[in-house]
Amino acid sequence: YKSTLAAVEDPITPPVSVKYNQLLINGQFVDAASGKTFPTLDPRTGEVIAHVAEGDVEDVNRAVSAARKAFDEGPWPRMTAYERSRIIWRFADLLEKHTDEIAALETWDNGKPYEQAAKVEIPMTVRIFRYYAGWADKIHGLTVPADGPYHVQTLHEPIGVAGQIIPWNFPMLMFSWKVGPALACGNTVVIKTAEQTPLSAVYAAKLFHEAGLPDGVLNVVSGFGPTAGAGLASHMDVDKLAFTGSTDTGKIVLELASKSNLKPVTLELGGKSPFIVCEDADVDQAVELSHSAVFFNQGQCCCAGSRTFVHERVYNEFVEKAKARAIERTVGDPFREGIEQGPQVDSDQFEKILRIIRSGVESGANLEAGGDRFGTTGYYIQPTVFSDVQDDMLIAKEEIFGPVQSIFKFKDLDEVIQRSNSTRYGLAAGIFTHNLDTANTLSRALKVGTVWINCYDVFDAAIPFGGYKMSGNGREKGIYSLSNYLQVKAVVTSLNNPAW
Ligand code: ADP
Repeated sequence: YKSTLAAVEDPITPPVSVKYNQLLINGQFVDAASGKTFPTLDPRTGEVIAHVAEGDVEDVNRAVSAARKAFDEGPWPRMTAYERSRIIWRFADLLEKHTDEIAALETWDNGKPYEQAAKVEIPMTVRIFRYYAGWADKIHGLTVPADGPYHVQTLHEPIGVAGQIIPWNFPMLMFSWKVGPALACGNTVVIKTAEQTPLSAVYAAKLFHEAGLPDGVLNVVSGFGPTAGAGLASHMDVDKLAFTGSTDTGKIVLELASKSNLKPVTLELGGKSPFIVCEDADVDQAVELSHSAVFFNQGQCCCAGSRTFVHERVYNEFVEKAKARAIERTVGDPFREGIEQGPQVDSDQFEKILRIIRSGVESGANLEAGGDRFGTTGYYIQPTVFSDVQDDMLIAKEEIFGPVQSIFKFKDLDEVIQRSNSTRYGLAAGIFTHNLDTANTLSRALKVGTVWINCYDVFDAAIPFGGYKMSGNGREKGIYSLSNYLQVKAVVTSLNNPAW
């Protein structure tokens, strides 16, 4: 890792400044009612980037009132769907125009490589908004044949005020998965950003207003989970809640939602996804894909392929190559060109990952590469590979959310199916084989929301994403996300002439 170590110790000045650090409520930037702020930190150094308004229950109340008013009285749900579509599209254009600035904010706040933010995350965010701009004027109900002299139709109506809580790993992308479908369907939104990464969403929301979004339609509250987040989840006037984050917090928000007004909740939670390399796989390709499946975004992906199952016939070759690939991974200042891996998002995550790595060593897994922090400043961790991992080890069960690959050996399909499924999670799986029967058998047997065959992390706007089991409920992206934000009203009209 030597070539990039110097850069870690001497960070580059980010090519951006923080313009917006307040709450955005009813189209206005405002301070928190309490006047409080909290620091958001640079994960490269742990230093303060900016102090940001610390929203709390009172601010959430203000934001929900604004969203309520915009829904009940404002133009948004009443304007033509075509007009809504055009505003969302104009916003996507503005976002695209400001890609460099937003990507730099993402990198500064989150630590992800700038090249990945600018070339992957922000373009995907733009794509999601264009996709949902396209849906806005294609949402409609059905005419339903019923027994008897009735004319029956369904109206697909916006649900009302959507409360949305997003995490820190892909701040802009998570913003788009939530806000895109909610607005396309004619809802109004209060979104709470993650306390680690408050900077990009509020910048984007400002652009949305420049694109013509009416005041109160999209309100952004920065702040902490147990205060602002819980205030949103338990609000009596929020009609729908969408949450992405950890499974433990998912349980809390579901409980808050049900204890308050029974608002429907979609949850996108944790994972421990298997990446299965079969005996006929092209080992070099499988090594490269399994590497990016787990190390992409510093391992901070809910769908990280964090359990690499390798058939015994190709196991030794695979382990050698996976180790070599991890050692080659370029770690360094995420603003530098050619960097594959930056720091973890904060000290909590950093400490947690190092603790789980230590447990891997203590429980007897083979440490093939990494195993420690990288450099002496910030939250960088060496790309770490364990082989001979056993199913009962903590590294095999716990979601690590860090750059740690765990390699397991398997003998046959039934065994790998059973082991892949023996987890409380069910978010995604990767299958590496050229055998059609093997691919079909595995993809039907795995209890997961997404199966990638000979690929991984393919996130088209149209492909639904979500979890089985404790990885969550509901689907985001694609056509499936629209139903999260729509009520179905059945309208039954008596026909006077029974002969009709
Ligand atoms: P992580 O542990 O990875 O930070 P969390 O699930 O705690 O993941 O965080 C995801 C989002 O949930 C963040 O916006 C966070 O502020 C919010 N959050 C955390 N705790 C709560 C809570 N008790 N109620 C509502 N939201 C919460």
